[in-house]
Amino acid sequence: MKKFKVNNILGAIIFTALAVCLAAGVYLKNHSEPISAPYVDFLKSVEEGSVSEVVLTDESSLRYKLAGGDAEYVTENPRSPSLKEELLKQGISVSEGGALSNSGGTVMSVLFFCAVLFMVYKVTNHQGPKTAMALNVSDASESAVQYPGFDDIAGNEEAKESVRDIVDFIKNPDKYARYGARMPHGMIFYGPPGTGKTLMAKAIAGEAEAPFYAVSGSDFVQMYVGVGAGRVRDLFRKARENKKAVIFIDEIDALGKKRSANPQGGNDEREQTLNALLTEMSGFSNSEGIIVIAATNRLDTLDEALLRPGRFDRQIEIGLPDLNARRSILNLHIKNKPMSEDVDMDSVAKQTVFFSGAMLENLLNEAAIFAAKRAAENIEPTDIDKAYYTVIAGSEKLDRSGIKERERRITAYHESGHALAAKLLSPENTVAKITIIPSTKGAGGFCVNIPPDKMYYTKSEIENQIMINLAGRAAEELMFGSENVTTGAGNDIEKSTSLARDYITKYAMGSGFAYDEKSSHDAMKKLLDDLYAKTRDFLLGNQNLLIAVSEELLDRETLNEEDLDRILGAEDRP
Ligand code: ATP
Repeated sequence: MKKFKVNNILGAIIFTALAVCLAAGVYLKNHSEPISAPYVDFLKSVEEGSVSEVVLTDESSLRYKLAGGDAEYVTENPRSPSLKEELLKQGISVSEGGALSNSGGTVMSVLFFCAVLFMVYKVTNHQGPKTAMALNVSDASESAVQYPGFDDIAGNEEAKESVRDIVDFIKNPDKYARYGARMPHGMIFYGPPGTGKTLMAKAIAGEAEAPFYAVSGSDFVQMYVGVGAGRVRDLFRKARENKKAVIFIDEIDALGKKRSANPQGGNDEREQTLNALLTEMSGFSNSEGIIVIAATNRLDTLDEALLRPGRFDRQIEIGLPDLNARRSILNLHIKNKPMSEDVDMDSVAKQTVFFSGAMLENLLNEAAIFAAKRAAENIEPTDIDKAYYTVIAGSEKLDRSGIKERERRITAYHESGHALAAKLLSPENTVAKITIIPSTKGAGGFCVNIPPDKMYYTKSEIENQIMINLAGRAAEELMFGSENVTTGAGNDIEKSTSLARDYITKYAMGSGFAYDEKSSHDAMKKLLDDLYAKTRDFLLGNQNLLIAVSEELLDRETLNEEDLDRILGAEDRP
């Protein structure tokens, strides 16, 4: 716990409250050691809907509670990027860090006591330099762990190059001030989830040997007006005490979204917090080696006010890794793992187009867990295969007794529709795997269709991709009738619609530019209708191949690319 002076009565009361909380925490901890449970049991409980609450952290274990019980369980944390979303979808309450709630009277009364104190505090409106809010932010953000350096980041070479001078600036701000250089005090890293934005920010701190403060934009947006702004001031005060620091604000969009994106109009709390942030940033002197790095998945949603000179005026894209970068990320993460010589890392890199760095790390971690469970000497290709399945679709559903034969048939034809369209319409694509093994995440099966790594995609390639997405539904309709199509195509239709939207509005590949909302909607509808009709005709013309692939898939549950080539080659022969 941080040191702070108890210099007034209020401080004494808060101190007492904290002491009571601490004592209650120790009491509860001693009286309720978490029960260790295997990860499969956790998944089973999630599936059965009996998990009420989960606490996720960056650590190797996660904690959870079952509905109606007070016992706390601890299990392996797969650190899967989609785990949180999956749990939330199931209606489970998920928090990151902190403790599980406790329904016991002790905790309730302690919380009540603290709430009363907090309200008294708010009314008296003390804002001394070391406030309760200050403790809140610093304790959550500061970490004493060893930060990574640039060597711990594979790929992302351009981004690394673009931040090297920042490292030098944090170390020697005076050097730049002497030349009258105005170094950026704010940078934005933007790109898809899991591409290493946090890692890059930490590495800057590591290279500059500066403390790292991490917060999330959503931490600042509170119910009470003024609390977020107070937290911002507190955070910057702490950073300034060190003279040099890296402040990392994840999910900056929670604070700095464009106003038009918020139809309810202004949100006082959000605006006050954002203003406090911008004011703090403009108050940096050139001799302070402090840099604020914000991260977002989408730069275009941010309020332009944030991007003005003197604010977050350096914007660096951190994108998905290309083939070479994937190979180096994989090689970096196998360093501490016993890999069998039979695992071909080049082919793993090839099969992981669209994987982020976090997904690649997760793939190897899952493979290592499979190998450990088997007590094998090394991680074998089969472990990688299983892990690949897990990362893409979640764990294999072990109890498949509830799945009816008819559902299996529909899934097989649906997935074969995708595979056939991919193989014949876009031969450059790789169809790495096609399976009807259901996953615990609810997928009935899937077809991994990987387009080649490319800078640009042509109009006809995008049309083909839409047809590949629609081919699952078209195959269902062709084989089982339009009355019997299923909800299994929901995700495909979402993806097709999004591609069609880009085709019309972003890339202007339709019949003209500058669509208004109504005409772009009409153009998208026409494009999707035409492509769906084309897909149905395509499958009708290749119905014998569709049946051949589907029947073998029903038989063997999983097919790989060689199997498909064999079936298609054999069936092609007159
Ligand atoms: P989000 O947008 O979801 O917050 P992020 O872009 O901040 O994600 P990180 O949290 O930095 O992603 O990445 C998660 C993990 O993925 C890292 O801790 C690291 O293990 C791995 N990783 C991601 N990119 C790389 C990379 N380029 N080199 C090595 N490891 C990487």
